[in-house]
Amino acid sequence: MIRFCHLDLTCHVKAVLTLIRGRFAPTPSGRLHIGNARSALLAWLHIRAAEGQFILRIEDIDKSRSRAAYAEQMTNELRWLGLDWDEGPDIGGPYGPYVQSLREERFQHALETLGLNGKLYPCFCSRAELAAIASAPHGLESEGPAYPGTCRHHTEEDRASRAAAKQPSLRFAMPEREIAFDDMAMGPQRFAPGAGGDFVVKRADGVIGYQLAVVVDDAAMGVTHVVRGCDLLDSTPRQMALYESFGWPIPRFGHIPLLVGTDGRRLAKRDDAVMLGEIRAAGTKPERVVGWLAYWSGLTDRPEPLAAAELIPLFDWASVSRDTVVVTPEALRELACV
Ligand code: GLU
Repeated sequence: MIRFCHLDLTCHVKAVLTLIRGRFAPTPSGRLHIGNARSALLAWLHIRAAEGQFILRIEDIDKSRSRAAYAEQMTNELRWLGLDWDEGPDIGGPYGPYVQSLREERFQHALETLGLNGKLYPCFCSRAELAAIASAPHGLESEGPAYPGTCRHHTEEDRASRAAAKQPSLRFAMPEREIAFDDMAMGPQRFAPGAGGDFVVKRADGVIGYQLAVVVDDAAMGVTHVVRGCDLLDSTPRQMALYESFGWPIPRFGHIPLLVGTDGRRLAKRDDAVMLGEIRAAGTKPERVVGWLAYWSGLTDRPEPLAAAELIPLFDWASVSRDTVVVTPEALRELACV
């Protein structure tokens, strides 16, 4: 009995002392490539080096794009790579469920809160109208062209008459002030007032937007540090504006530069040579992949095979390279050597 009390207390003290919580939150819309694996590895190393808690969350809120089979494959491949997590869909945890499609009620509740605080407005723009602004300046790389706020100033009467004819989407009104933050990987970042324009938090077909879901889940799961690919860097001011509207503490962010092909373009899901599943199936050892990921990230000076856990003592943001990495066919061939 005494022993149980002691163990319980140890767990409790550990939970209270663990201030750092991070996550990897893939969308299961395809297979993992080595660029995704690198983001997962760095997010994991950052947390493990700080003796924090790591979460795996599956972001399948857009059901039409997500497949359970991909989620399962991603989970297996991350484990194969040598990563582990303290909470996740396969092992549960105190902040579950860890699958976004099972958390819809929380998003609806969050939408109500934003609506009551006057942060949302209905948008009746058609696809054609939105396509017409596609050439407008000041868009976001991750989100396309900035919405010019066409529906922001409609009167209530106008909204009511339009709503009779068309189901609107809901947009979040971005604050008109600069948003700045210090990125753990990329250093100081500044975004002009209204960066990227007002964004959709609920589509006309009822699907909750990524920006809202990710903020609600990270906050509810006590995530203190978000490490992810640089393709989401310009989503961060939007997410920070959401945190502020809810009055929730804002996590720290770290955005990892992308891996690109020799053509300068992002690694493509259709290229088998960069897919973790293909590399694994060919008989390559995970240590070989991890060795290259660490080398590309600036954590080691040559791509020697290493277990993920061996990198924990080497992790340091100061060594993580801020440059985009070009993955050459020669490097891929060496990586995939059996
Ligand atoms: N689910 C998003 C994706 O796979 C990433 C979310 C995040 O890390 O903020 O692109």
